Amino acid sequence: MARTHGHGNPKWTRDETILALDLYFDLNGKIPSGSDDRVKALSEVLRRFPHHAEASRKESFRNPVGVAFKLQNLRQVATGKGLGNVSETDRAVWLEFGVSAAATKSLANLIRAGVTAFEASEPVQEDVVFAEGRVITELHTRREREPKLRGQLLSSRRVSGNLFCEMCGAPPHTSNAMLQEAHFEAHHIIPLSNTGVRKTRLSDLALLCANCHRLLHRAIAIKKRWLTVAEGKVICGV
Ligand SMILES: [Zn+2]
Ligand SMILES: [Zn+2]
Repeated sequence: MARTHGHGNPKWTRDETILALDLYFDLNGKIPSGSDDRVKALSEVLRRFPHHAEASRKESFRNPVGVAFKLQNLRQVATGKGLGNVSETDRAVWLEFGVSAAATKSLANLIRAGVTAFEASEPVQEDVVFAEGRVITELHTRREREPKLRGQLLSSRRVSGNLFCEMCGAPPHTSNAMLQEAHFEAHHIIPLSNTGVRKTRLSDLALLCANCHRLLHRAIAIKKRWLTVAEGKVICGV
């Protein structure tokens, strides 16, 4: 576990650490204090990170002092000198990117652009929010994306024959066996409000092609009620 400097802030992610390493390279080994403009600028970017939306409301979250600490930690990893709470992520990022300031810079630029792009986009489209609301829609989507569950679903369907979409009946659009699974997504057939928080079972899932899955979610949002796959088939006309 990384130290949080006593503020209970979430630990630094790989993306954030890469941005800090990029600044570390720019600084040529001289670590400024939290009042430095470059440190302040990085703090601002980190506080805009989408996955830390709630934490960033706290004033101590990735503040300039915290960023300066992180730069010291990175210097410690880089030089073996100094005191700091070096985290596993610090070590891993240094191992991967310490050899190339240029590679760090180009990835850091992409990450910064990603933060801006994320801000410009709506996290959940208004027309696909289920009647249960934004949080349930988000939760539903997250459950469906769980790689392990989708993998289990695909294996179980393979056992009973060739893969096909359970809504339109179509087989994969590709004959390349390595790509066939990419055609399919897992759809959670039971509204989360009915299941509470229990773990998803394979029997709660339907295997749908990406197109049908999209249509079904849109239809559920428009009808403002949960639809079975059979109902979806009729309404979507597939
Ligand atoms: Zn389909
Ligand atoms: Zn779904």
